[in-house]
Amino acid sequence: MSLHVHAIRHHQHQDGPGPRSVVWVSGCSIRCPGCINPHLWKRQPGTDTPVEAVLAALEPGRLGGDVGVTIVGGEPFEQDDLGALCAAIATHWPRVPGFPRLIIYTGYTLAQLRLNPNTLTTLAHIDVLVDGPYIVALASPDLGYRGSSNQRVWNLAAARAGAPPNSLPRSLEDDWDRPRITVTRDGALLPPTLARTLGLHTDRTRQCGQDERSS
Ligand code: SF4
Repeated sequence: MSLHVHAIRHHQHQDGPGPRSVVWVSGCSIRCPGCINPHLWKRQPGTDTPVEAVLAALEPGRLGGDVGVTIVGGEPFEQDDLGALCAAIATHWPRVPGFPRLIIYTGYTLAQLRLNPNTLTTLAHIDVLVDGPYIVALASPDLGYRGSSNQRVWNLAAARAGAPPNSLPRSLEDDWDRPRITVTRDGALLPPTLARTLGLHTDRTRQCGQDERSS
């Protein structure tokens, strides 16, 4: 069981409330115009990584205080063994109260994913799903953790517990679309207005995850 892993980084703040460990996979057939990560459209040769090795590479993040894992792309749902990795993370990462343990960014919609019976098992391990393709005409720099307003945030963990799937975890409610903080290139967390006043470059806009080369 393996995935095409392009990069793994720890202590990230751009892909969900964190700090978080982030996994970038390569391979995406959706190919949205304006995608921030076109270098991840093709599966990169030599990056086939066993699930156990991905877990081991995530371990420094868990031990270093990361509150969860985010998987971005590329397209995570085009990885044959995404479900195995999600199940392993659900087993090995303790849940930190108030924070989503596993967030996945996908260019597919939740409705599309639910049409595939094999995907239902994977969805059962995901806390928050950010779904839908990146649409340039709907893009805005003010969308917390998302790139375009068609993309939706599904609290699958809450839905499994009987709450509405659009009721965000508190940690997301605080920041999603009403950002109280922003993240500078050097990782500082500041009120957006202060960052703008200081002229600092910030990385708020997301598509299927930030460009890993700029993180
Ligand atoms: S934005 Fe996401 S779904 Fe769209 S092409 Fe890029 S990686 Fe694929």
